[in-house]
Amino acid sequence: MFSLLSEFDLIKNYFSGFANNEFVRLGVGDDAAITSIPAGRELVTTVDTLVADVHFFVDTAPELIAYKALAVNLSDLAAMAASPAWFTLSIAMPEIDESWLDAFSRGLSDLASQHNIALIGGDTVRGPLTITIQACGIVERGKALRRDGAKAGDGIFVTGSLGDARLALEYLKGERTIGKTYQAAVCDKLHRPVARIDEALSLKNFASAAIDISDGLAADLSHILHSSDVGAEILLDKLPVSDAMRACVDAGDRQAMALRGGDDYELCFTVSESRQAAMLTQLGVDGFEVYRIGTITQDKGLRCIDSKGEFTMAEISGYDHFSGQD
Ligand code: ADP
Ligand code: MG
Repeated sequence: MFSLLSEFDLIKNYFSGFANNEFVRLGVGDDAAITSIPAGRELVTTVDTLVADVHFFVDTAPELIAYKALAVNLSDLAAMAASPAWFTLSIAMPEIDESWLDAFSRGLSDLASQHNIALIGGDTVRGPLTITIQACGIVERGKALRRDGAKAGDGIFVTGSLGDARLALEYLKGERTIGKTYQAAVCDKLHRPVARIDEALSLKNFASAAIDISDGLAADLSHILHSSDVGAEILLDKLPVSDAMRACVDAGDRQAMALRGGDDYELCFTVSESRQAAMLTQLGVDGFEVYRIGTITQDKGLRCIDSKGEFTMAEISGYDHFSGQD
């Protein structure tokens, strides 16, 4: 803990001015917050911790750290098709650095207001830089998208291009070069992932299962397959990749990065054949594009089919913090 006065001032200066919303009865400043949700809705809860030098470089701009800490939680809410409602913030930092806090707080409040999600409380302690955000969203009863609803024959879709965050990481570590024109866009994909909340709300009445891609498509899709007790075939040529990926990475690496690179925070979801046309119409009306990459099968396992129609079983390794490998 910091001294009483400085902790009080810190919370007052940097974390009490965020906008509330209709769900918040009592926000930051009391012993606990009070919220309420409308009748017929359910609460969806998620939490993610970002540790300096594990999840982000310690010298990353504070507004980007804040942005990402909230964005990864918003992405989990998107994967459940929940509307963001409120969040709490627990922050450990080695010392009070006002300019760092000011930038952090601005980054956080910018993204929070974009999604109308209220900061209702938190905790502030001294320690190695670590940020934990717990976020809650609201969904009509029984309407949340889960991992266990995929059925054989369902189409498999993703909301956007894959592998850019991995490309950015390799670039920032000095392992790969990226042409000047692409550097900003690629790094943005790593630092400022867009939580696909709006897309999720547009497709939620059609999808049978969903997950957000945080550890890589192969790893995350395999969670759907296990939970739903099914398998899948994906067409490697259909994996959407950005112009930057096409320009900077050769074809073989590109597919591997699209398949296994983490941190993209696109959604992967499944839809029955009979609902696909209606879903695509709805997404079109709402202005979103999605990409069909394969089909759910009765046969277990994840098969990857290349342009010659030959298949390989996908290695399901994504980023696992405890496996000691990337
Ligand atoms: P207590 O000692 O009763 O747990 P604190 O002094 O830790 O209370 O916090 C006072 C108020 O400030 C509480 O409403 C708490 O939720 C809020 N708060 C503390 N840290 C943060 C933070 N980093 N972000 C947002 N709210 C915070
Ligand atoms: Mg108290």
